[in-house]
Amino acid sequence: MNSLKVGVVLQGPDAEVLFCNEAALEMLGLSRDELYGRTSLPPSWEVKKEDGKPFPRQEHPGPKAARTKKPVENIVMGIYRPVTGDHIWLLVNAIPVLDKNGELREVICSFSDITERKISEEKLRSLYNDLEARAFELATSNADLEKFVYVATHDLQEPLRRITGFVQLLGKKFGKQLDEQSGEYIRHAVDGSARMKKLILDLLEYARFSSSREHFTATNMNEVAGKVKAALSEQMAEAGAELLFDPLPVIFSDTRLITQLIENLVGNALKYRSAEPLLVRITCTEETGQFRFSVADNGIGIAAGYAEKVFDLFQRLHNNESYEGTGVGLAICQKIVRIHQGMIGVESLPGKGSNFWFTIPKPKTRDHEEL
Ligand code: ADP
Repeated sequence: MNSLKVGVVLQGPDAEVLFCNEAALEMLGLSRDELYGRTSLPPSWEVKKEDGKPFPRQEHPGPKAARTKKPVENIVMGIYRPVTGDHIWLLVNAIPVLDKNGELREVICSFSDITERKISEEKLRSLYNDLEARAFELATSNADLEKFVYVATHDLQEPLRRITGFVQLLGKKFGKQLDEQSGEYIRHAVDGSARMKKLILDLLEYARFSSSREHFTATNMNEVAGKVKAALSEQMAEAGAELLFDPLPVIFSDTRLITQLIENLVGNALKYRSAEPLLVRITCTEETGQFRFSVADNGIGIAAGYAEKVFDLFQRLHNNESYEGTGVGLAICQKIVRIHQGMIGVESLPGKGSNFWFTIPKPKTRDHEEL
């Protein structure tokens, strides 16, 4: 008995303590003299339930098993020990031992110290609550932001249409009376509003993505790459460019979004090509828990220090005269990859080319069954 790690207390028919082992004495912090003969813990010992409410004495496992003559199992008791001035949590079982006539002879109580486990549980619960609150805050502010961008861009379109329309009208009506410089101003105004329209439409597209996984299915990446190759074939042929891809895996994703991601990356390779004949390669390596895709080109590359920036909304490394664009394409790529809980990045050497990589987690078991 004394070699057991579990506390054992033997109580007589009136719940008086007849015996207890070493582990029990250690857990309770009392001596044999203090415990033997007692029918309950000293009054200064507060006993509470898991929910923090006081534990009524008649409900204590020992007395309850004695009264009902039935085992009382897996009872969690929080005990304040005045001797050491601390709380311990015990998991208690009490079994009544009956004689031939069904009369109670004694009750065997056994208990183990689960204080560590309770502390960890409490920490985990509080962390989980914090996390839930943070996730709720984030989801709300994200949804608010997306709604704001959508409404703002939507509402901006109408006044812009009027500005463009009236400036064009002005040019048409007074074109002949205006001097060359005024004509130039009107052309700039029309160009500016056309660019603003493109920015608004791109922003609207960016805002339209939702992070729902409802359209996730098995996506054959060979088919995706083939589709992108076909969609861009004319521009590729014009540029004398080539798109190659290795045998690619089947992933669990939103096929439409992944196709757009690959199309954006290959489209950028085409746009930011150098004087060299362009070669774009799509490859994939399998890693633990994820696939790592890469879309690599031999184009103009990205200057050192700008690799992170290019994924930000409206961030461009060139002006509109050298390369047309709005700086939304890679922000959309990042959003798509995040919807898939992956990561995106770029490694690049100016003048040598860029390697845009992204990861897609492998399906969890349940998703895998769907595959
Ligand atoms: P956009 O092409 O409309 O400017 P993106 O978000 O697609 O917007 O790209 C952001 C910037 O990243 C581009 O302006 C360009 O400077 C740089 N970039 C993107 N793709 C490449 C690439 N393949 N090679 C070199 N630079 C690139």
